[in-house]
Amino acid sequence: MTNSHLPQARFHMMAKPTSYHCNLKCDYCFYLEKEGILPEISEQQKSKTHGYMTEAALKRYVRDYIRSQDSDDIDFAWQGGEPTLAGLDFYRNAVKYQKMYADGKNISNSFQTNAIVINRQWAQFFAENNFLIGVSIDGTPEVHDKYRISVNGNPTFERVKRAIELLIEYKVEFNTLTVINDQNWDKGKETYQLLKSLGSKHLQFIPIVEVDQSCQQKNSGHYSPSADPSLTHFSVPADGYGQFMSEVFDEWIKEDVGTIFVRMFDSILATWMGYPASVCVQSRECGQAMVIEANGDLYSCDHYVYPANKLGNIRQNNITKMAVSKQQKRFGEAKYKTLTSRCRSCEVQALCHGGCPKHRITSIEGEKFKHNYLCPSYQRIFKHTTTAMHLMTQEIKRGGLAADVMPVIANLKPSK
Ligand code: SF4
Ligand code: SF4
Repeated sequence: MTNSHLPQARFHMMAKPTSYHCNLKCDYCFYLEKEGILPEISEQQKSKTHGYMTEAALKRYVRDYIRSQDSDDIDFAWQGGEPTLAGLDFYRNAVKYQKMYADGKNISNSFQTNAIVINRQWAQFFAENNFLIGVSIDGTPEVHDKYRISVNGNPTFERVKRAIELLIEYKVEFNTLTVINDQNWDKGKETYQLLKSLGSKHLQFIPIVEVDQSCQQKNSGHYSPSADPSLTHFSVPADGYGQFMSEVFDEWIKEDVGTIFVRMFDSILATWMGYPASVCVQSRECGQAMVIEANGDLYSCDHYVYPANKLGNIRQNNITKMAVSKQQKRFGEAKYKTLTSRCRSCEVQALCHGGCPKHRITSIEGEKFKHNYLCPSYQRIFKHTTTAMHLMTQEIKRGGLAADVMPVIANLKPSK
């Protein structure tokens, strides 16, 4: 059956089949706060399906997501909470429906997990169906087990390590996602070496910046931190993310360019080469990464699962129409329309674009809009990487490889 009568567009979506539910109780998990923000979903938790995505909703989502895309390559991204809680049969069904509705398109799956339940069965399923797995791990056991603890308070590092070994044994492609917090921001070098020793070749580092609950208006329906709010104790210091990424960069640039891939550095290099950034945080606009909740509700972004940012529900609304709606367009444009004058005149603006609007919480006298809390980190990272990025760009434009600059950089004095 063809679907040419349906509107199509190009966008990406993450699905949360288990909503915010998780089998860990990480102190810093921003998704747990949704228990209070999304009462409707909280209520569904008490129902027979625990508020998880039903098979009927899954079938509709798979069908509509494929049909809504103006592309031959469709990526399904599964996230949580913890997506393994939906059970293996849920994903067997997902793959079954993907095959049913593929209509000649190439379907891929990516899956972000804390990895603690991954056993041989899961690993085999991921291998057979070419899932790309993102494993959440925060670094050394000491750091990881500080916050990433089970609901009973037990450490999880060893379980995650075993899961990674299984993924390697089954030849499942995986990457690692590391949250930078108050415990590891000064341990960039150790963290990078640890992840490398575990076999991770694709690394992603995201900073945690969480406004204290007492500094957020309750029941406002949208993200509304108070003026200059206090941050939770586990948040990264304003310049800590910059220190961490600079340390990681110094390790990576020594011998790993071309063999280990750090998402932020790939994105910076892309911008230097004249392409758009590959991460939304460093893009000019937001809006290309919507999220679908277990109950079919669609939101503008994973960081904005608030009632005010709900675009509709796939039971009643067409996915493409929601993706290209005025509301979503406004959400996307707000990123550059609300830049501070400091950002507008910043020498690294083209690389930074003011970071994620969720982190714009700092008031500056005379500024109409709030400034990004992580600005000192961004200044540091972009300046720290300038020389190497410049050399890599020149080398690639000459027909060489980015990796070719490693010996040249080794002979330079490190930039601060
Ligand atoms: S709000 Fe933040 S996370 Fe969401 S799309 Fe914008 S930059 Fe990305
Ligand atoms: S580095 Fe700071 S001032 Fe410059 S664009 Fe980024 S957030 Fe704005």
